[in-house]
Amino acid sequence: MDIVKSRPRVEFMKRGTRKLQILNIIRRSGAVSRHDIAKVTHLSKGTVGEAVDDLLHRGFIREIGLGESSGGRKPVLLELKPEAAYAIGVDFEATSIMAVVVDFTGNLIASVKGKIETEDDKLTIVRKIIESIHQVIDKSGISTEKMLGIGLGVPGLIDSRKGISISYYSLPGWRDVHIGDLVRLEFELPTYIEKNMRTMALAEKWFGQARNVDNMICLGVRSGIGLGVVVDGKLFRGVSESAGEIGHMTVDRTGPKCMCGNRGCLQELASGRAIVARIKKRMKNGESSKIDKLVKGNWKKITPEIVIQAAKSGDGIALEIAKETGEYLGLAIANIINLFNPELIILAGNLVSAGELILSRIRETVEERALEVPRKVVRITLSELGDNIGALGAAALIMCESEEVWELTHV
Ligand SMILES: [Zn+2]
Repeated sequence: MDIVKSRPRVEFMKRGTRKLQILNIIRRSGAVSRHDIAKVTHLSKGTVGEAVDDLLHRGFIREIGLGESSGGRKPVLLELKPEAAYAIGVDFEATSIMAVVVDFTGNLIASVKGKIETEDDKLTIVRKIIESIHQVIDKSGISTEKMLGIGLGVPGLIDSRKGISISYYSLPGWRDVHIGDLVRLEFELPTYIEKNMRTMALAEKWFGQARNVDNMICLGVRSGIGLGVVVDGKLFRGVSESAGEIGHMTVDRTGPKCMCGNRGCLQELASGRAIVARIKKRMKNGESSKIDKLVKGNWKKITPEIVIQAAKSGDGIALEIAKETGEYLGLAIANIINLFNPELIILAGNLVSAGELILSRIRETVEERALEVPRKVVRITLSELGDNIGALGAAALIMCESEEVWELTHV
């Protein structure tokens, strides 16, 4: 009976992915029995037993005593061994680099933050990325032999199969950079790249609020704006991996010119960079703001976080800009809700510190503009993963999404 029931699912499943699937079930539940794994996967007890024995033998998991019995013998529970392996995750964008080392359960072991300056050329940026990886490995104290690989969250347009960063408007001159190969050659570790807005979604899927959600969208607001879309539990990339470029959605036909050539793109009005530009423009026109005092007259030091801080303390123009930004994002989110009908939308990046100030404006706009049926089921929240979000997701790319890495590292 069992065999007949399990047959169709087994045949549809790709052989190579079974062990990773089992590891991920253990990762999600914390502790789970062989019996429960068989139930969730629809695999036979024998198949699960064999895969579990191999994972025990290779030191990726361990047995941790007995769980509750559902009649009969109490089952032995399995959990991941945190020290079994480690992964490196890197995330960069126009102004910053973040590198992390996480253990096998996804706990943060070490992190390093680097800066990209506007005058940095292609080679300098690549050198800085490589340097950040060296630094985070040193800081973690973990030998590279225990590292499964390096995941890179890359901004702009990418070709993940070739490991190429094709273009990124915010870094002029950054074109066709073979970032995957350059990092792989330096560290001799399996290296995978993914669009950084998607690694942010992966972080939420594996370590954040979307653990048990199969249809979710992460809206990243940083120097640019983009989406990481998870549909039926899988990342959605599009035919040439450019899906999710919501930053270039027109929200104001006559708005400011964007680097893409269009006018009034969402990211020219609501990105971290745009918010800073908008407040500077108003201050330049003579409007007074507490921000001038906060940065001691040095306007170069104005960041989106400082604008938020000023808005929260009641600064008039900062507050207006924060509310307008919430409205622009609300417009975009209403469109996302109508298009994708997700269960969860998580706002991540520069504006998270604004909390309810922006979230309430987003919710009001969504209430006014999104269709009723999808609007009623969606939850809109703020990410709780902090600055590391993109780098954590890049590490998840190695640990949770790619079995190929495993076979290379642990045969
Ligand atoms: Zn644009």
